[in-house]
Amino acid sequence: MILLTNYEGRCGVYKTVELLKNKVNAIRAIIEGIKLVEANPEIHTVGANSLPNLLGQLELDSAVMDGNTRRSGAVGALKGFKHPVEIAYHVMTDLEHEILVGAGAERFAKEIGAEKYINEMENTKTAWHEFLDSVLTEEQKQIFPNIRLLDVKAKPKDPDPLFDTTVYLAQDYSGRIATATSTSGWPWKYPGRLGDSPIIGAGSYADSRYGACACTHTGEMTIRAGTARSVVLYLKMGLTLSEAVHEAVMDLVDLKTGFTNAVTIHAIDNKGHYKVVALNPNKEVKYLIWHPDLDEPKIKLAEIITT
Ligand code: ASP
Repeated sequence: MILLTNYEGRCGVYKTVELLKNKVNAIRAIIEGIKLVEANPEIHTVGANSLPNLLGQLELDSAVMDGNTRRSGAVGALKGFKHPVEIAYHVMTDLEHEILVGAGAERFAKEIGAEKYINEMENTKTAWHEFLDSVLTEEQKQIFPNIRLLDVKAKPKDPDPLFDTTVYLAQDYSGRIATATSTSGWPWKYPGRLGDSPIIGAGSYADSRYGACACTHTGEMTIRAGTARSVVLYLKMGLTLSEAVHEAVMDLVDLKTGFTNAVTIHAIDNKGHYKVVALNPNKEVKYLIWHPDLDEPKIKLAEIITT
């Protein structure tokens, strides 16, 4: 058994560990942990009270993947629900699809009785107003939101310190490996933008035969490199976990155009190894690890690669 999460997921790890110890399957165990992160208003990058898109709305993304079946479920640009990760799970269990976005995802959420929620809280509103105040001209302020958002998009300063997502990767007592992600995405994103978190193969991937990977930070890069799937494929091709992650980092380093910034790769293999590597972070990157030899989850620092 093993659980690996990024630091943003810290408030949910005890719950997930308790469930793993009680032989709950990996996928349900990580979902229950992530639900605590989504509901926590102190965390401003996942679920309630996070930083919004350019229009001040929270459009949430989430994915789950079962490494035994390689079935997945994901939702993107979902508004008005408390637990995107639970809705993503139901996309996997109740539909013949793997991903739903926007109005369709919201209709599905209603049909399964998912809890509605106003995620936009004090922090969301204050940060958005301050942001708009700093980037809009007086003329734009008069007519907002009837302006070309495209013109605003170019102006914000890179909000890198605010980036994050929560990612959980686990292997349960039976050997089943699973991943789940949940995020509000990139602050001030253009409405409708999907990052890597709901994209299986980019932001997460699980295969109980080999291992799993999940990424945080610049989704625009991991989508292009297919990072999470690459790590698991490199494992399948016989690389060690450390080699597989470094190979995927090199694929990211090779991206010279477009929006390039930091990426953190979290990975486990099916033998109980784990590896977290941060590419070009602007600060130290923490993560949490738990396995049965540890009394409780431990905070560790990612290996850093700077180019
Ligand atoms: N990867 C997420 C995204 O691109 C954001 C993050 O992890 O900071 O939406």
